[in-house]
Amino acid sequence: MSPVLPTYARADISFERGEGAWLIASNGDRYLDFGAGVAVNALGHAHPKLIEALTGQAQKVWHVSNLYQVEGQTKLAEKLISLTFADTVFFTNSGAEALEASIKMARKYHAASGNPERYELITFEGAFHGRTLATIAAGGQEKYLDGFGPRMPGFVQVPLNDIEAVKAAIGDNTAGFLIEPIQGEGGIREASKDFIKALRKLADEHGLLLVFDEVQSGVGRTGHLFAYMDLGVVPDIMASAKGIGGGFPLGACLATAEAAKGMTPGTHGSTYGGNPLAMAVGNAVIDEVAQPEFLEHVRRVAGRLTQGLSMLADEYPDVIETVRGRGLFLGLKCKAPNTDIQKALMAKGLLTVAAGDNVVRLLPPLIISEDEAADAVSRIESVCAALSQSREGDASGAAAT
Ligand SMILES: *Cc1c(COP(=O)(O)O)cnc(C)c1O
Repeated sequence: MSPVLPTYARADISFERGEGAWLIASNGDRYLDFGAGVAVNALGHAHPKLIEALTGQAQKVWHVSNLYQVEGQTKLAEKLISLTFADTVFFTNSGAEALEASIKMARKYHAASGNPERYELITFEGAFHGRTLATIAAGGQEKYLDGFGPRMPGFVQVPLNDIEAVKAAIGDNTAGFLIEPIQGEGGIREASKDFIKALRKLADEHGLLLVFDEVQSGVGRTGHLFAYMDLGVVPDIMASAKGIGGGFPLGACLATAEAAKGMTPGTHGSTYGGNPLAMAVGNAVIDEVAQPEFLEHVRRVAGRLTQGLSMLADEYPDVIETVRGRGLFLGLKCKAPNTDIQKALMAKGLLTVAAGDNVVRLLPPLIISEDEAADAVSRIESVCAALSQSREGDASGAAAT
């Protein structure tokens, strides 16, 4: 038996250090990191401001628990409130915990409103919300539920972008809707703007809550601080994690005062949640990412990257079917098996992440330069050229960079 529980299919490589968008393996090989620890390292590796924030706090106090005031929590909560729809924030250590807080809050809202029977969230096919018992039930994927006993009640699932199916699923037990504006693990699949708008309308008509899971799509990933900001729709509750900690474990549940009205003292908690180290880093991440120039940089470099990738999709339709996503939250919908492409890219020094629906995700640090984006495109091109069958006997077709 391996010393570490073998629940992960790990690549046989380990990294010694990172510099910006680059990871340096133990043997000295350099990799351009377009996985960013699954959309976590928003500011890349070894960002000076994050090092300063973390080491500065490390010399003062690491942990005190939530029995006391934690100044960094108030500071970060106030920032998030001023930047988003939210009136209040609960801090966690991970995405799944941010979802757990969101799910509990949605149920408690209805209980506090005198409707405890409204505990059911409508979720969407292809969703991923984490690996706890509640979040695997919410995600509804058999491969994650299998063998783990009775499925936690309180979730029903309908197809994405099918508003009639949503209407048909609303009943006496419905508490609200839980949705990723853009699915990450599901393969960079977008909920349409019209669909999200229709969900908001249904929520308002039926007194239901709209809960966004922006664990992967948030914190600048799409070129907006949160993906919802580009949709013209605001949620009642939103889960954030991944990028918000820049590599330090941190999550958050953001909510309106109304949605959070049931969450009174003693109703929820976490020993580590919002500890001083996490807060020091989270504040530094948000200070950086929320700057308009930073988000503009993301949109600009994303524009260049998307353009390069679209050309590859045109050039090698037998390898890449389409390019999906927004900002630096991108997916290559593949013709060839996605894991083959991901492995071939790794051999060319480019790290990416496979996703559902035969997609290879490109999730670079948001600080990548245009040169690094072009570098990634040329590495992808060389893999496409090698895998492309149409290329045989037509070597000139591969020369369009
Ligand atoms: C990663 C992810 C989660 C779970 O986050 P963990 O930190 O792994 O618990 C939940 N929702 C979405 C959309 C995610 O991408």
